[in-house]
Amino acid sequence: MGEDLERLKQRLPLLEYLQQHDWTGRPVGTGSEFVGLCPLHEETHPSFYVNPHKNLFYCHGCGRGGDLIRFLELSRHLSFRSSIAYLREQLAPSAQLLEHTASFYQLQLSRHPEAVHYLLQRGLREPAVIEELGIGYAPGGTLRSHLSDLGYSLDLLLETGLIGSQGQDAFCRRVIFPCRQNHRVVNLYGRSIGTAFPHRLLPRSKGGLFAWESLRHYSHVILVEGLFDLALLWQEGFRNTTCAIGTHLTPLQWDQLCDSPDRRVDIVFDQDENQAGQQAARALIKRLYRAGLTARIVRLPDGQDPNSFFLAGASRDDFIRWLEEAESP
Ligand SMILES: [Zn+2]
Repeated sequence: MGEDLERLKQRLPLLEYLQQHDWTGRPVGTGSEFVGLCPLHEETHPSFYVNPHKNLFYCHGCGRGGDLIRFLELSRHLSFRSSIAYLREQLAPSAQLLEHTASFYQLQLSRHPEAVHYLLQRGLREPAVIEELGIGYAPGGTLRSHLSDLGYSLDLLLETGLIGSQGQDAFCRRVIFPCRQNHRVVNLYGRSIGTAFPHRLLPRSKGGLFAWESLRHYSHVILVEGLFDLALLWQEGFRNTTCAIGTHLTPLQWDQLCDSPDRRVDIVFDQDENQAGQQAARALIKRLYRAGLTARIVRLPDGQDPNSFFLAGASRDDFIRWLEEAESP
């Protein structure tokens, strides 16, 4: 473990990690150290020192110091073991590959009128929301050469499922939502804008609840089925909306939803004809009750989901009224 750990830390030097996470330090003394504001607490006078040669930090403000693993433990509230797992994941080639793919697709969005048109058609028009969600577009045909130029092997592209066995872009003609966990892309969701099957994820975990880090502090959260439902609700100012991408919660998503006993969860699944969404909502609400949380089912007008509800002209206040009429079991 010891030698292995040293090698792991060398692959991602502490200073580089901090800079990737927006830390700025200025050189001090003979330039062998850098000093800046401590990322571990609020301060106005820089007291956080980094020594890139020793690969260590020390803060004179809070008295804490150590290596990158220690920094991860403190900044991400992880155990020693989880910090190492986190670091390994950060360094996994597929993690970087998904970041590069998501940024590539994001750049393509404004260049393809059919994609922008599709978003408008779904009622998504707020540039700030589109940007914040990192929404992109896969026009098809250009991803493979872009990624090979960045040095990724075809084997890795096939293995992650980004490129199909025929060499085609798996997300061709799809609007892309990157799914993040701890600020890292763990999967991509692609919504077809053509006749292909509507939903597609890469063959790997869908990760945690969508954008959970930005809303876990809310005591009231809204849980929806699809990412367009989420996008429309965010656009209307309901930033406490999250999504499990489907009606089935993974164990991680379930743990997240239940991590605060005071939380109230309003479930707004589709009012579809076969009642699948409503059945899933009823099953989930029972589980949430057993776990001690307050949960309610919001029933939108027949046949509607939050996306179509707003698209049909409903306002923020209309949605609030439906929320108020939500039923507890
Ligand atoms: Zn400090």
